[in-house]
Amino acid sequence: MMKKRALLTGITGQDGSYLAEFLLKKGYEVAGIIRRLSIPNTRNIEHILGDVTLYDGDLSDQGSLDRIVRDFQPDEVYNLAAQSFVKVSWQEPILTGDITGLGAVRLLEAVRNHKPEARVYQASSSEMFGNNPKEFLDESCHFLATSPYAIAKLYAHRMTINYRESYGMYACAGILFNHESPRRGIEFVTRKITYAVACIAQGVKQSKMGGEIKEPLIKEGKFKLGNMDSSRDWGYAKDYVEMMWLMLQQETPDEYVIATGRNTTIREFLDIAFNVVGIDDWQCYVELDPRFQRPSDLRYLRGNSSKAQRELGWQPQTTLEELVQVMVEADIELVKHYELR
Ligand code: NDP
Repeated sequence: MMKKRALLTGITGQDGSYLAEFLLKKGYEVAGIIRRLSIPNTRNIEHILGDVTLYDGDLSDQGSLDRIVRDFQPDEVYNLAAQSFVKVSWQEPILTGDITGLGAVRLLEAVRNHKPEARVYQASSSEMFGNNPKEFLDESCHFLATSPYAIAKLYAHRMTINYRESYGMYACAGILFNHESPRRGIEFVTRKITYAVACIAQGVKQSKMGGEIKEPLIKEGKFKLGNMDSSRDWGYAKDYVEMMWLMLQQETPDEYVIATGRNTTIREFLDIAFNVVGIDDWQCYVELDPRFQRPSDLRYLRGNSSKAQRELGWQPQTTLEELVQVMVEADIELVKHYELR
């Protein structure tokens, strides 16, 4: 029997690498699009490099997307690539609009022109809800996107639905709440915390690893955060990628919120992370720094995934405590190899 073919953008990122592993285990032929960088960034997929086909391409380049879809002829296309960091979207709003927003439409066009029957998954984001006052956010809630990232995602989200309605394509979107893992980028607050906690537990006073403001993440044994009171609904990326696949196996394409339903502040996240290494009085290791604040931040995000639970039979598998433990332990290993050598 012919293997099903899946094409992933963003395969080098957190979700792309987990999804590629998941699809390979399911017996798919997997291809990924990687962009040209001066130093290749394949760390997350090193262990599967022999099992996937990699194409050079970029979401800003229509020709490369056309060529790849035409040559690979995928059955399923997962658009996970994006300028995915909210804070940078204020510093680079045009690039964010071009890659995170228009990039998704370029890919839809490539599919429409070269493999219109392929099923498409768009990685939409809970950030699109903005500061919606509803406590539990589901598919029926209004989008009040407040960052250039969220607005670009909203454009891509609506265009995905538009391609379905206009051209009859099988195009769907997962509205995913925050999901983390040891492969999360170091500039994201959860990973920054777990890496910093690992450094502190290992006695590192100044880290080699830089943070989002391009200075050592740990300096004089401390690290800096912008806001400890905002809260998020954090799940485990490894659990969430299965949902992307499940969405493309349904009879009709649709939108689904994927979330744990649990709201946790950054302060509580700090408690959990320091607890993994047996530190209670963590306040002396953390400083507030206005440079990490966003021009407008979301107070909280908490999702209601009952539609996905009902229709896709999905339940989050991993508690936040388990997730944080996995992240801190992985970062301790990384610190031993990277900081202490
Ligand atoms: P990452 O930031 O880890 O990965 C982003 C990927 O996009 C990387 O592979 C990156 O490549 C690639 N990329 C960036 N720019 C381009 C470009 N111009 N052309 C081609 N590829 C490009 O994101 P995640 O894995 O965490 O998230 C996956 C998707 O889900 C993203 O779209 C994100 O916005 C969205 N999302 C994520 C959530 C989360 O909590 N993680 C929540 C909701 C939505 P490179 O390695 O070369 O930089």
